[in-house]
Amino acid sequence: MKQIDILIIGAGISGAVLAERYAAIGKKVLILEKRNHIAGNCYDYIDENGILVSKYGAHLFHTNEESVWDYVNKFSEWYPWEHKVIAKVDDKMVPIPVNITTVNELFGTQISSEQEMQKWLEDNRTPLDNPANGEEAVLNRVGPVLYEKMFKHYTKKQWDKYPAELDASVLDRIPVRHNYDDRYFSDVHQALPKGGYTQLFENILSNPNIEIKLETDYFDVEEQYSGYEKLFYTGPVDRFFDFKHSLTEKLEYRSINFVSETVDAEFFQENSVVNYPGTEVDFTRIIEYKHFGNQKSSKTTVVREFTVDEGEPYYPVPNPRNQEIYAKYKLETEKLVDIHFVGRLANYKYFNMDQAFKNALDLFYTLEGQEKSQTVD
Ligand code: UDP
Repeated sequence: MKQIDILIIGAGISGAVLAERYAAIGKKVLILEKRNHIAGNCYDYIDENGILVSKYGAHLFHTNEESVWDYVNKFSEWYPWEHKVIAKVDDKMVPIPVNITTVNELFGTQISSEQEMQKWLEDNRTPLDNPANGEEAVLNRVGPVLYEKMFKHYTKKQWDKYPAELDASVLDRIPVRHNYDDRYFSDVHQALPKGGYTQLFENILSNPNIEIKLETDYFDVEEQYSGYEKLFYTGPVDRFFDFKHSLTEKLEYRSINFVSETVDAEFFQENSVVNYPGTEVDFTRIIEYKHFGNQKSSKTTVVREFTVDEGEPYYPVPNPRNQEIYAKYKLETEKLVDIHFVGRLANYKYFNMDQAFKNALDLFYTLEGQEKSQTVD
């Protein structure tokens, strides 16, 4: 067997970044990936309609971190893309995050300035000093009527929990805007990779010091690998420990059932993403990939997202109960020398893509030192 210095489990963002960094300092890296492709949940491909689609849901890159932006620009060209989301509420199409237009459309008001919007929010919100959960976070921001129309049922569909059963941080992802800004994110850098995410990952992983074995579940082959310097594990943390703390208390994850359909029309909907925060349908949102990068095709592909309990874990479920269970696994991880748990599933945290890049880069620099890595750039 070839000598391996670094063994990495998973070819998503965290695994790819660590592989790239270690390969760049001359280490022999082996990545074991359970799926038949690289790029983790960012994986995209050209579908039968000639449209670049993401297999695991739309991925919109946004960051305020210059180091992450510099890093990703080494591996792909990026084009600016300011993501917008429209929600179908009371049969109206309104912007989310809530902004002046949202309120005017839903309530027939004629707000036209930040001051008027602030006044409307003051009159409608339920001020709470330290929102303790997702419900309080939304009530504090926009009040009970918008909570009911836009957040309560969407959240139930997404998590099978009401916002009161989730940490405030989950709902805090969605701000409220006092102006007409209808962008989903407000980060300095908002962009998509020109050739798609899979190509970005191919470039990140192109160093000949990196070997990738697809369709290889680490837990089926682990006894074949030893003698490496370090192991980076990016899968679900409880899986690594054979679910030992889960007999009575299972760590929860949410998965998504993506139901794809070809529509014989130029476009199906007016925007890339339309959210359905009501109870009239079971899905949370419909993605029409053709809008991303203004792609051309005679037909269009739409994907409805049904969030489910079973299936591949995509989302950790942030609430105190799960944090308590995760804390037990975390203690186990800390006992292991030279085995590092990195990424969304291994840290049981709802990271955005840029945070995943940053955490992996930070871990590398913490372990290997800033100077060493700088000399190879
Ligand atoms: N959310 C909501 N209504 C919406 C959009 C989001 O209630 O129309 C809540 C919901 O709980 C969701 C969370 O805000 O899980 C975070 O939304 P985001 O769009 O960041 O979720 P992601 O794109 O990561 O699935």
